[in-house]
Formats: sequence, C-alpha cells, structure tokens
Amino acid sequence: LLEQAVAALELRPSGASYSGSFARDWMQHARRETIVKHSPADDSPLAAISLSSLDDLQQSIDASVEAFDRLRSMPAPARGGIVREIGNQLRLHKESLALLVTLEAGKITSEARGEVQEMIDMADYAVGLSRQLCGLTIASERPDHRLLEQWHPLGPIGVITAFNFPVAVWAWNAMLALVCGDPVVWKPSPITPLCSIAVQQIVAKVLAQHDLAGASTLALGGADLGMKLASDERLPLISATGSTEMGRSVAATVAMRLGRSLLELGGNNGLVVAPSATLDLARRAILFAAVGTAGQRCTSLRRLIVHRSIEAELVSSLVEAYRSIRIGNPWEEGVLVGPLVNQAAVDSYLQAIEDARREGGEVLVGGSHLHRPGNYVEPTIIRMPAQTSVMLRETFAPILYVVGYEELEEAIEIHNGVPQGLASSIFTSDLREAERFLSSRGSDCGIANVNIGTSGAEIGGAFGGEKETGGGREAGSDSWKAYMRRQTCTINYGTTLPLAQGVEFDL
Ligand code: NAD
Repeated sequence: LLEQAVAALELRPSGASYSGSFARDWMQHARRETIVKHSPADDSPLAAISLSSLDDLQQSIDASVEAFDRLRSMPAPARGGIVREIGNQLRLHKESLALLVTLEAGKITSEARGEVQEMIDMADYAVGLSRQLCGLTIASERPDHRLLEQWHPLGPIGVITAFNFPVAVWAWNAMLALVCGDPVVWKPSPITPLCSIAVQQIVAKVLAQHDLAGASTLALGGADLGMKLASDERLPLISATGSTEMGRSVAATVAMRLGRSLLELGGNNGLVVAPSATLDLARRAILFAAVGTAGQRCTSLRRLIVHRSIEAELVSSLVEAYRSIRIGNPWEEGVLVGPLVNQAAVDSYLQAIEDARREGGEVLVGGSHLHRPGNYVEPTIIRMPAQTSVMLRETFAPILYVVGYEELEEAIEIHNGVPQGLASSIFTSDLREAERFLSSRGSDCGIANVNIGTSGAEIGGAFGGEKETGGGREAGSDSWKAYMRRQTCTINYGTTLPLAQGVEFDL
C-alpha cells in the first residue's frame, strides 16, 4: 500500500530512506538525524525519515522571508489562482494522500478520504476568499474626511500541527495564509512525516512554477524544532495545534517576543441528552463522535451527560452498539475503529480506565488493550458517580464517561465544569432547552451544536475553542483576519485641518 502511494505521489525512495527525494531547492540538507516510522496498524516499519536540522529550519525561514516580498506584491485574486492549482493537485492525488493518512495515522479509509477532502474544500474556500478580503469604511466625525480599514499580508507564518489531523490542519492554515499573502513554514508532527512530505511535494511543485518556491517550506522534527520556530522573530504569527501543554510553551515563547499566536489545543467535549431527544439520532451521533478516529479527534465526545429518565435506555443501546463495532486494520472494509497512534496512547487509555475505576466508575463495555500487533484498544463506556477528576482531563482514546442529571441547569454546570472549551452538543426537541444551551449562559465552548454530535465540523465556520483550548479560530468565517494586519486609514480631502474630539490647536 505504501509503495502504491509513494509511486502515485512520486516520492521516490533513495536507498533505504526517503530522504533526499523530497528535498527541493528550499531545503538542501545538512547532517541529519534519521527516525524509522512504524505503522500504528501492525507495527511494521514504513519508512526511514531524515529529520531537519536547526540549520534546515533556518534555511526554511530564510526562504519564506524572501518569498514574502513576492507573495505580498501579487494581487490577492492572483494568489487565489495559485491556491486553485494547489487544490486541483490535491484533488488529483486524493486517494494516495488518504492512503498515507491511513498508513501513518491509522485512520479508517473513509475518514482519511474525508480529511483530504477537507484540504480540497479549504483550497476552494480560500480561492473565493481571495476576492473578499474586505475592509470597512467607517463614518468619520470630521467634515471632508474618510475613515477606512484595510488588510495587508502579515508575513511568514509558522504552522505547528498535531498527528491526528496530519494534513487538514495544515490546509486550514496554509490555504488562508497563502491567499492572505503569507508564506508558510510547516512543522508537522514527527509521528506523521510521510503525509507532510507528500503534501509539501505537491505544493512545492505548484509554487515553483510561479517562482514562489519559498512560500511553503517544511521542517521535520519534534518539540525542539517547534520551540525554535516559535522563538523566531521573523515569524509574526505562530499557529500551533496540539496538546494544551504544548500550547502553554508556545504561547509563552511567542508572547516573550510580542508575536501573535493562534492556539488550537485540547478538547474535553460534552454532549447533553435531554428527555425529549430523539434517542436513535442521539445514539448514532454519540457513536460517531465517541468512537470515530478511535477517539483521537480534538472534538471527540468524552463526556455524556444524560437525563436520568432516559439514561438506562440510551446507555444500554450504546453498549449494544459498542459490542458490534469492528476493530482492526484501518484500510479493511467494514472496520470502524483503527489503532491508537502509539504505545504511549495505549498506556494513557489504560491509566484513565484505572483512574476512573478508582474514582467509582463502572466499566459498562470495553476497557481492554487488544494484544496483537498494532495499538488496538476496545472503545469503552464508563458510568461515573459524578464528574470526578479523571473526567477533567483529555485522554486521547475512545473512552466515554457517562453521568446523569435531573435539571438542565445542572447539566450545563457539569458540561462547563472542565478546563477545556472546544465542542459541545445538546440533543433535545424542546426549543427552550436548545436555545438555553446556545445562550450566553449555556455552553461555554467555541462550538455548540443541536441534534448533531461534537465532531466533524464543516470548514465554513470558524473552528476553535475557549479556556484551555487556546482561543484560536481557524478555517472559515472571518478566521482569515488572524493572518493579516489591519490598518486604519484617515484621509482628509478638505482644505481645513479639524482635530478629533473637538481639540483646538491653532496658533
Ligand atoms: P502534541 O502537543 O504532542 O504535538 C503537537 C505538535 O506540537 C507536534 O508538531 C509537536 O512536535 C509540537 N510540539 C510539542 N511540544 C512542543 C513545544 N514545546 N514547542 C513547540 N512545538 C511543540 O499533540 P499531538 O499528540 O500531536 O496531538 C493531539 C493533541 O492535539 C490533542 O490534545 C488534541 O486535542 C489536540 N488537537 C487540537 C485541535 C484543535 O483544533 N483544537 C486539532 C487537532 C488536535
């Protein structure tokens, strides 16, 4: 399968390693450390990957600084034209890219295809946006004056991404950044290097045709490289997606140099099921949100807050559904749950279950590590006596905690009683309850849904969350503004010089 993807993407191996094949003018190599990337599905070695040195990173940033001048001088719709070409190439390579996502991140085929589709959608969205980077005209308080604001390219952007959306999160950032006139220096997760090499390869070819090779560069490595990227003063914005722990470190580093950071961090998402909910709809939504991507989405459902009058019925139907889920090789048809990404993820799954039991939790289904090659675990439901401390942290695995409630106020209080604030949902047929959940005294999350699950957001809306999730917004709506600098302009077309606020200053 890997050979298929490599051939289609023209990622030719050089000897035993893939290094060198993806090297472009933007990255001529110094001495490198090599890692072997294993498949989470069966532990087999996929490829040897040369990591970038700090010198490589410097070269990437140098190239992006150089490209910035050319990129910002182009009209935005012309930049949109280039992004259209990138989108078309991604379309052409959709199957091969999805295969790499499956092999490296362990996503089932349908979800991997969906992730690549998200990149294509972002490209389409950005093409349209390139003609709509609009500023405001504001009424001036002075006669014969015009007040307006306009948006300019910001500069080269550092983009740090997580393993679980190895290509889509890059696209959320890069597609917007490129139409906004900003080159991108990408530091992907070292857990998914092949996906990022393939995407970079595709994008670099398009950009080279427009004499813009440095507008997208790639630096492969871990936290050390990420920290170096975050500290570089030539990058006015660092967009970082990953754990809250990583976000704290990046935010502090960027703040020290008074740069901007856009943070997309951990979630701990809750779903309230009210007595009037359509239970079959709720059951299906819960299943996808809690079990999809083996619980490794930032928006995965982790906390089910269910009215006590329907708790037994809903939970027993979920337990039954969990028992019939097929776990296995992510590229096999009919499999819904692939592997966790690595052994550390299995360990944290087991630790959370042990902690939950200690805190009074009862495991209703699942709870075990499947001992076969690969990092497979059983999707798990645990009934909790209350929202105890294990429920306050994000465990990146398919564990769903269930707690009961009597009054909606109590449900909202439980829902908001965690440090994270990414995605939330309510299932109800009661308009008052739905509106209460969406009101200013309702869900405190960046995403609040009614009668759909917590995960699987569309790109048209702004994506992101509050509290420890970091406050950033990416993808649709007006998220593009983070990638530009706003300029307020006052133009006097009269013959006098009136001052604002009525100030007199005449000799
Ligand atoms: P991670 O924090 O381990 O790594 C994310 C990225 O940050 C990687 O590229 C890593 O190399 C880099 N990194 C780690 N420490 C760093 C540091 N100190 N300085 C600079 N860079 C550093 O996260 P992960 O395990 O790859 O991904 C899972 C996490 O990401 C979960 O918490 C999940 O909720 C979160 N996530 C959030 C969103 C969102 O949009 N809110 C989307 C996807 C994933």
